This record gives sequence, structure tokens and C-alpha cells, in this order.
Amino acid sequence: MTDNIFLKIINKEIPAEIIYEDDIAIAFNDISPEAPTHILVIPKKDIKKLSDTSEDDQDLLGHLLLVVKKITSKFEIKDFRVVINNGSEAGQTVFHLHLHILAGRNFGWPPG
Ligand code: 5GP
Repeated sequence: MTDNIFLKIINKEIPAEIIYEDDIAIAFNDISPEAPTHILVIPKKDIKKLSDTSEDDQDLLGHLLLVVKKITSKFEIKDFRVVINNGSEAGQTVFHLHLHILAGRNFGWPPG
């Protein structure tokens, strides 16, 4: 057992609306969506944040972006935003690396 909520989702200890899974990554709907489409893509490897990664994670990091591509292609999502919050000042609240896929509305720039 773990206190990390996303590791619990990976281990199927708590439910999630899983929309993609392979040996390296899993993607599921955000429980509190900020847009009509709000999907989280996470590695199965226990990585707390992007700044904890190293050269050894090059393939994994590339894989996560290709998972974004696969999901957006599958659901025919043409315009979307991908966000990684790194650290609490940047808005990270769950300390397991995750990519947000946001789509279905207009987004402002710069982000708030
Ligand atoms: P962060 O703020 O760390 O970048 O993003 C964490 C995201 O995880 C938030 O958008 C939040 O709504 C989502 N989240 C937190 N707990 C759960 C959960 O138990 N299940 C799901 N599906 N999403 C969660």
C-alpha cells in the first residue's frame, strides 16, 4: 500500500476512468476536470516530478508524449493543451509526475 494516490490508481487500489494503459504509462480522466476533456497521463514508474527525472528517463518521457498523441488522435481532439506542473508554486498538488491533456474550450495565455 502507498499514500501516493496515483500509485494507488496504477495498482488498481482505487478506481479511475482509465482510458489508456500500457506497460509504461496509464491515462485516466481527472476527477475534477478544468475543461470538457481533462485527462491525466502518468508513468507507472514512481517519479515525483519532472525535475526528478534524468537522462535514463529519456525514452519514458518521449513515451508519455506519444501517449498524448495516441489519445488525442483516437478521440479526434485537434486542439489541446498539455501541462506539467512541477512543484507546489507551479500548482502541483499530486506528487507523481503527470501530464494534463486539456481540451474542449478556449484557453488563455499566459496561464494564471
Ligand atoms: P496537479 O495540480 O498536481 O498538477 O494535478 C493533480 C490533478 O489530479 C488535479 O487536476 C486533480 O483534480 C487530480 N486528482 C487528484 N486526485 C485524484 C483522484 O483520486 N483521481 C483522479 N482521477 N484525479 C485526481
